[in-house]
Amino acid sequence: TIGMLAIDNKGNISGACTTSGLAFKMRGRVGDSPIIGAGLFVDNDIGGACATGLGELVMRTCGSFLVVELMRQGRTPQQACEEAALRIIKKQDYKDIQVGFLAVNKKGEFGAYSIQSGFNYTLTKNKKTEVTDAKSYLK
Ligand code: ASP
Repeated sequence: TIGMLAIDNKGNISGACTTSGLAFKMRGRVGDSPIIGAGLFVDNDIGGACATGLGELVMRTCGSFLVVELMRQGRTPQQACEEAALRIIKKQDYKDIQVGFLAVNKKGEFGAYSIQSGFNYTLTKNKKTEVTDAKSYLK
C-alpha cells in the first residue's frame, strides 16, 4: 500500500491510498485501500489517517475512520494510531500479521504505528524529507 496524507499551509488536509493488492488474494477480493473509512479517511475539521497491511482486519475495525474519531476525541495522532492497532491485536493472533496506521491532525502533528516492525514512512516538511521507522508493537 502507498498511503499519503498532506496538509497545506492553511491546514487543509487531503489523503490518498493505493494498493498493489495482497499476495495470493482471492479473485475479486476488494481490500481496504479503496474503502473510505477503512484504508483511508479524512475529516478536514480533525485530521486524516491511512492504513497498510492485512486489509480484512482494517476493514473489520473501520481502521482509518477509527483513528480520525480517536483524534476527534482528543488523542494525538500517535496515540490514535496506537489505539487502533491495539484494538486489532486484542481480537487477533497477531504474531504473523501486519497492520500499520499513519495519521496527521489539523495542527500538522503526525503519528504512525504498526504491529510488526519494518513499517517506514516518509515525512516531507519545509522542503526536507526524512524516512522514519514507525513505532511498533513487536520489536
Ligand atoms: N492493505 C492492502 C490490502 O489489504 C494490502 C497492502 O498493504 O498493500 O489490500
